[in-house]
Amino acid sequence: MNYAYNGRIIEVDLSMQSYREILIDPAIVRTRLLGSGYAANYFLKYLDISADPLSPKAPLFILAGLVTGTPFLTACKMSVCGRSPLTGIWNESTVGGHFAHMLKCSGYDGLILTGRSKTPIYLLIEDGRVDFKDASHLWGRDTFYTDELIRSETNNMAKVMCIGPAGEKMVKMASIVCEGRSARTAGRGGMGAVFGSKNLKAIAVFGRKKMSVANYDGLIEELKKTTLSVKEKTSRFHEYGTAGGLKNSELHGNLPVKNWAEGSFSESAEDVSGAKLVELTFEKHYYCYSCPIGCAKIMNVIHPAYGRLNSHMPEYEGAAGFSSLIMNRDPYLVCAACEFCDRTGIDTISASSAIAFAMECFEHGLISAADAGGIELKWGSPEAVMGLLEQIAAGDKLGALLSKGTRSAAAEIGGIAPEFAVHVKGLEVPMHDPRAFYAMAANYMTANRGACHLESLAYTLGYGRTYEGLGLPEQFVNDSGSAALIGVITQNFFGLFNPLGICKFVARAGFSVNEISRWLELTSGLCLTPAELLKTGERIYNEKRILNVGLGVSRKDDMLPPRLISKRRGSGRAAENLPDAGSILSDYYKLRGWNEFGIPAAKKCEELGIDFKP
Ligand code: SF4
Repeated sequence: MNYAYNGRIIEVDLSMQSYREILIDPAIVRTRLLGSGYAANYFLKYLDISADPLSPKAPLFILAGLVTGTPFLTACKMSVCGRSPLTGIWNESTVGGHFAHMLKCSGYDGLILTGRSKTPIYLLIEDGRVDFKDASHLWGRDTFYTDELIRSETNNMAKVMCIGPAGEKMVKMASIVCEGRSARTAGRGGMGAVFGSKNLKAIAVFGRKKMSVANYDGLIEELKKTTLSVKEKTSRFHEYGTAGGLKNSELHGNLPVKNWAEGSFSESAEDVSGAKLVELTFEKHYYCYSCPIGCAKIMNVIHPAYGRLNSHMPEYEGAAGFSSLIMNRDPYLVCAACEFCDRTGIDTISASSAIAFAMECFEHGLISAADAGGIELKWGSPEAVMGLLEQIAAGDKLGALLSKGTRSAAAEIGGIAPEFAVHVKGLEVPMHDPRAFYAMAANYMTANRGACHLESLAYTLGYGRTYEGLGLPEQFVNDSGSAALIGVITQNFFGLFNPLGICKFVARAGFSVNEISRWLELTSGLCLTPAELLKTGERIYNEKRILNVGLGVSRKDDMLPPRLISKRRGSGRAAENLPDAGSILSDYYKLRGWNEFGIPAAKKCEELGIDFKP
């Protein structure tokens, strides 16, 4: 008997409108867990990784984590994985909320989608049954409307993940949005475009099954002991959301300013911080499944220019991207821009980065107002922000270029435009500056999906957080010499969370690898010591790297954008910092046991039990 998971995935062929069940291999669960760990292994072993991400042949994995849907703290996550249309390499986008829990209650741990339906459809998965439903009446509709309509015509208790117009148009930064206005989003890497390429508008799930756990009483006992302290340690998160950290980020020189060209936003950070957004727009808190923290918020406010804004309040990434990055000081514009992204289904990080890039190109005369349909792309201009967002979501005018991402747009514009494109491997850099925390340089250069802050969260060490049991240096020092070590250790640790299906924010509340090990046994019956768990994180990390190596990734791609290694912020706490990217990368390869080209060596693969010959 499996505890914590169902042991079954459905493989759906959208071309044939058919599906079959695949049994999950417990031996792989033991070594890779579930979620993105299982998906990467399966992808590498059984499927064609080279298929064009927008072709019918390309698979898309939606896999819940191993403990998702159980009472394990924050066990709400699932991973949306496959090859990214934006970057061309491995991508995993994680979503919390309640969809993944409901998926498990329906009797399945996940789906593998292939093929392309002839006409728009959505999937309805109810208590183990899969139906293919016509979605032609939903095509062109936004994510909020789609969620409401699907629930009204199927089951109001169902949880829905869907794309908006951007995904339908295969915009390469299109997201997948779960639960309508609550907008729990698989934002990064353009997985919404993969839905669109398959003519798949949405998936709705409903189930009544309860996940069994190995030792229910023991788990509940642990929960009782831990919940209060987790709540206390994350009370600011609860009060102001992730955007509550924006001022602190600015203070540390971590907040990107004016497309990463400047260093200080101190006079305005408060105006767009989580505290201000809560003061101006708060309606209620939102909790993902099994989460006592409740960092998410729903806003509800009427603004004279933007109308009613009633959806997920901006997170830190969206708040920073639509404020300091583009030099906007108006909190309502931040809210309107983020809501537009969720409604139409585009990634807030890539969209705000593309707009910052366009504004800098405009400033340097590389693009004109005529290119943007008559809009003057001035820094902070609301017309420019909302106008460009509309164009990106529609893949129209300048948006047609920007929607392919800054790497591609810069190459097409030419001249000095690549200087303004701040991405790694085609994925726009999230709102944490590696010049403030050099371990983030190690992480960004090597993170498996491109520039991803979540693969290591190393910047939190710079904020004074500690993570027990990982073997991190006693004292956090921000230098190029220790960056690689911190990068490797934190990547191995945080690489466990998506495969487990838990939220990384619990680690910020002091939930350690020792506790994860203990709770995992109580929940799933799987006995992995803390050391074995960290080895599992390392194995999963390397397997994704091997997948990327198969897609052509090597040292040439493990680079920070020119701006982040050659231009100083010039003011604020990190004013003079520049990471020594070359030496950090060499240290990193040595620590990883990779060769000089960034390819995992045979000895390392053997040690980790990975079948790969470099
Ligand atoms: S901390 Fe926030 S993101 Fe994480 S599970 Fe809780 S509500 Fe969701």
